[in-house]
Amino acid sequence: MKTDFHCTTCRSGMKRKHGAHHFRESGLSNVWIADLESHHCTRCDNVEYVFPRIESLLRIIAEAVIHKPPRLRGEEVRFLRKTLGWSGVDFARHMGVAVETVSRWETDAAPIGPQADRLLRLLVAQGHLTTAYPTDRLRQIDASRATAPRLTLEATRTSWRLKTA
Ligand SMILES: [Zn+2]
Repeated sequence: MKTDFHCTTCRSGMKRKHGAHHFRESGLSNVWIADLESHHCTRCDNVEYVFPRIESLLRIIAEAVIHKPPRLRGEEVRFLRKTLGWSGVDFARHMGVAVETVSRWETDAAPIGPQADRLLRLLVAQGHLTTAYPTDRLRQIDASRATAPRLTLEATRTSWRLKTA
């Protein structure tokens, strides 16, 4: 059998496939990639995914997360914190809260407060976005809801774009 890729576990040939991928590797439960290349080992159960332009992929997801009106969920707080390149301790220092507070936010043991939610979104917007982040967005944040729409991303020739539902 002719294959271009070899399994990193058993060195057997791998079959190339394409398909929708639930992007759990991001740490977010609601993110999908429309059409991702994957390599499946013909002998063992190993599957390897190919994520092109991962930095741009993560940036566009972060952008979508900070634009949603419901307050941030724990997994989103953790995801945004990581896009800032901060440990839990770094993040606690920047936000002016205890490390335990960050941990409670990230595990959904306690909801992130409205001021911390806004500050985190602005920190991400300032450092990472290609488009402007209108401060009007801050008025739309709804602390009474913590939902997240399904996000589906599509690779373009040079970057990634969000598919609108
Ligand atoms: Zn294998």
